[in-house]
This record gives sequence, C-alpha cells and structure tokens, in this order.
Amino acid sequence: METERVNCLIIGSGPAGYTAAIYAGRANLSPVLYEGMQPGGQLTITTDVENFPGYPEGISGPQMMDDMRRQAERFGADLRYGVVTAADLSRAPYRLTIDEEKVIEAHAVIIATGATAKYLGLEDEKKYAGMGVSACATCDGFFYRKKVVAVVGGGDTACEEATYLSGLAAKVYLIVRKPYLRASRIMQERVMNNEKIEVLFEHNAVGLFGDNGVEGVHLVKRMGEPDEERYDVAIDGFFLAIGHKPNSDVFKPYVKTDEVGYIITEGATPCTGIPGVFAAGDVADPHYRQAITAAASGCKAAVEAERYLMEQGLKQ
Ligand code: NDP
Repeated sequence: METERVNCLIIGSGPAGYTAAIYAGRANLSPVLYEGMQPGGQLTITTDVENFPGYPEGISGPQMMDDMRRQAERFGADLRYGVVTAADLSRAPYRLTIDEEKVIEAHAVIIATGATAKYLGLEDEKKYAGMGVSACATCDGFFYRKKVVAVVGGGDTACEEATYLSGLAAKVYLIVRKPYLRASRIMQERVMNNEKIEVLFEHNAVGLFGDNGVEGVHLVKRMGEPDEERYDVAIDGFFLAIGHKPNSDVFKPYVKTDEVGYIITEGATPCTGIPGVFAAGDVADPHYRQAITAAASGCKAAVEAERYLMEQGLKQ
C-alpha cells in the first residue's frame, strides 16, 4: 500500500480540526488534514450560527466552515478528502489508513472526528432537514421564539434542550418513549415544574407533516399495545435529543473512552495518554459540544502537538 510520512496529521474538518490546522500551519508543522465523511462537520447541516463570537450579524454554518477551511489553507495546511478507515497507534510513527488504500505515517496525530447526533431514522427527518428538524437546541432554538416545538428523548440532553427551548418557545412537548425519564433528578424536576413543557410519556414520533417545513408530528401513544392511540400535534420545530455517537471507533483499541465512546483526555488537556496523539472537539466532549469549545480544544491540541514535535526534535 502507498505510504506517506507526515509530521502532523489532523483527522476531521469541524471547528476543532480546522482550528488545529490553522495553529499547526502557523507553527510550521506542515499539517495534513483529512476531512472525513462530512467535510465541514455538523455545522454544515445547521442554519445560522449566532453564538460564535466575532459574527455580530450571525453567519450560516456552511459559510463559517468554508471560512475556517480557507483560513487553514492560507497557512499552508494540506486539506484532503478521505476517511480514516483503520489506525495503528501502538507505536510512533502512527499509521493511519485512508480509504483503505493509502497509509499515512504521522509523528503527531490530532483526532477531531466529532460526534454524530442520533436520529430516529424516519424518512421525514431527512425530508425536513434544515426546515424544522434539528438536533441542537442551542444552535437553532432562537428561530422558534414564541412557536411550538417538540423534543424527543428522556435523558439529560432532552431535558436540558426542552428547558432551554422553554425560554424561547411558546410551548414545548417532550416526547418520551418510556413511562419515565432517564435524566438526573434535578433535570427531571426542572422539566416537570416548567409550565411551558408538556411531557408526553409512552409516546413515539412516527412521522412529520407540513407543506412548507414542519407543521406537525404524527404521534403514537403506547405503540403496539391494545389501547394504542394515534394522533397528530401541530408543531413548528422538531428537536432530536436521543444521544450522540462519538466517531471514535477506529481509535478505540488504543485510546481510553467512556462507555458511550467519547475519548477520555487528561484533565483539561487534549492529551490522550499516547505521546503525540491528541483528541479535540466533540469526539472528546460529552458535555459542551459547541463550535467555540471545539475550536478552543483544536487550538490546544495543535499547541500540544508543536510542543511534542519540538521535544522529539521532529519540528523542521
Ligand atoms: P442518553 O443516552 O442518556 O438518553 C437518550 C434518551 O433518548 C433516552 O431517554 C432514550 O430512551 C431516548 N432514546 C434513544 N433512542 C430513542 C429512540 N429511537 N426513540 C425514542 N427515544 C429514544 O443521552 P443524553 O444525550 O441525554 O445523555 C448522554 C450523557 O450525557 C448522559 O450520561 C447524560 O447524563 C450526560 N449529560 C449530562 C448533562 C448534564 O449533566 N447537564 C447534560 C446532557 C447530557 P430510553 O430511556 O427509553 O432508552
């Protein structure tokens, strides 16, 4: 298989990956970045980003990612299409296989592969993507001021998103498939005591409808039971909060992960415990998952990579 040796390899093209590329490029690390399955990452599927400092008028997610990409290119980052399909992090230089056809040997590796929001798998989720369906209340909640929204899920994320949305929307339905919430007690109490949130226990969303974006959701109560009920509820926004899947599978044999698969780093650093291997952004962040926090950790990872390469005498 074709093999190429690089100094600093960055895997992933969200805010963490591109920020790492900007810093690594400016530090003369000749970074090579593979963009992965979804160039630009999760922000390319959101609408406007209004909470990233520096954009007083807001900016569209795709535009922001394109700007970051061009900024990384300006400082010499070598940005490439390709997906890491296998990894050997057992010893340096680390070996990463790209698209099952090429091996990159890297002295330093920054894993910034992100996390993917889980969806229910309904056709309508795709049909109304960006037109009323969202997996991020902090990103998109603002567009539903004084409107009616539904949040699916019964964990901490769902409760947090429902509570957040209740500060903006006129009404929030929380659609929970079980007869109870899985969230921590404090989050449950917050939801149950909130007049704007109506919890629909034992409900499943099975479809969406609307001519011009989402106008309602098809619900089934006690699905599969003899007393099953089907009815529709009018909503303007449909938020998924049924968990995220961190994109860490190929690295799992080498790095520590939590039970969900998030890479565990050392304290507030991006260090994975493997010398020269760093993790940044959502793949290592079960808590904040914001563009700005991802960008910050990408910066930290590049700074650590530079330090490591200097210590090893590998910085040209
Ligand atoms: P969780 O896995 O904890 O919860 C997922 C929820 O989605 C569950 O209620 C689950 O239902 C439901 N769900 C999953 N699949 C489906 C489906 N196909 N249809 C309908 N419902 C579905 O994920 P979270 O993202 O909420 O939390 C992840 C971790 O992050 C947790 O450890 C959580 O505690 C933590 N967290 C902490 C926060 C905080 O402390 N402030 C904030 C956010 C997250 P069921 O219960 O039936 O399986």
